[in-house]
Amino acid sequence: MTREELYQSIYTHDTIYLPPHEQTTAALEVSLGCSWHRCTFCDFAKDNFQIHSLEKIEYNLKVLSYLRPDDRRLFLLGENAFCMKTERLFQIMELTEAYMPNICEYTMYSRIDDVLRKTDKELERLRKKGLRTLHIGVESGCDSILEERQKGITAAQTIEALKCLDNAEIDYYLTVIPGLGGRTFSRLHAIETARMLNQVHPKNIWCLKLKLWENTPLYREEKTGKFDMMTPEEILREERLLIENLIVSDCLFEDTTVLDKFTVKGMLPDKKEELLQAIDYLLSL
Ligand code: SF4
Repeated sequence: MTREELYQSIYTHDTIYLPPHEQTTAALEVSLGCSWHRCTFCDFAKDNFQIHSLEKIEYNLKVLSYLRPDDRRLFLLGENAFCMKTERLFQIMELTEAYMPNICEYTMYSRIDDVLRKTDKELERLRKKGLRTLHIGVESGCDSILEERQKGITAAQTIEALKCLDNAEIDYYLTVIPGLGGRTFSRLHAIETARMLNQVHPKNIWCLKLKLWENTPLYREEKTGKFDMMTPEEILREERLLIENLIVSDCLFEDTTVLDKFTVKGMLPDKKEELLQAIDYLLSL
């Protein structure tokens, strides 16, 4: 088999979605789809949820160890791979030790309730085994928006879960979606999201552009006038309000899709003023 054919044999889809900071991380597909599958804006969870068998994961590992023999960090692929039971995660980590002994760090996508289902002891065991970072879509700190978009979590649960990760010394990178509340909830979205984030310690806040994907409930809500989609400029003003209200430390803030073509990025709190000035400049264009 060629290298390309080997890669094709271990991934279900041609495109793999990794967060910006994991673009060069080796990815091991361990599951498909999302165990929740209900957020009304989401187009990522097209696959029916399934956790791969250990045999399939072992095959993927064997191939990956041939393709990426020297990698030290591994991304466990699946929309929320952290929903797996701790024992299954341990089995995967032990298989990894056998096939890719250089791997010493693990990272993956997670939902907030996946974290809450694990005990403090389990989180600590996982960190000791090499779990370094979870990538979590928190989307908003406003309960009305979370409920409307059927995210299945509350802001209080988010804070609780992230504090557990703080205690276990597991880093978390968070995704927020400006514009998710539409015009109606815009101010509340910015202010309550900042309020939530100010109580925890994200290493990274990544603002992800709200896209109305065809065939999603939110797309239909927009078509029938139930969801009041904001313009890119309005969304950027909302993002400015979010940054203005953020009091986080040692955290990289970034938006890679500002007005569809710019990236705004800087460490908080040091670069807060520069971020605000950059946004003001873009809004004045
Ligand atoms: S939890 Fe994430 S992947 Fe799952 S449906 Fe919601 S947005 Fe999509």
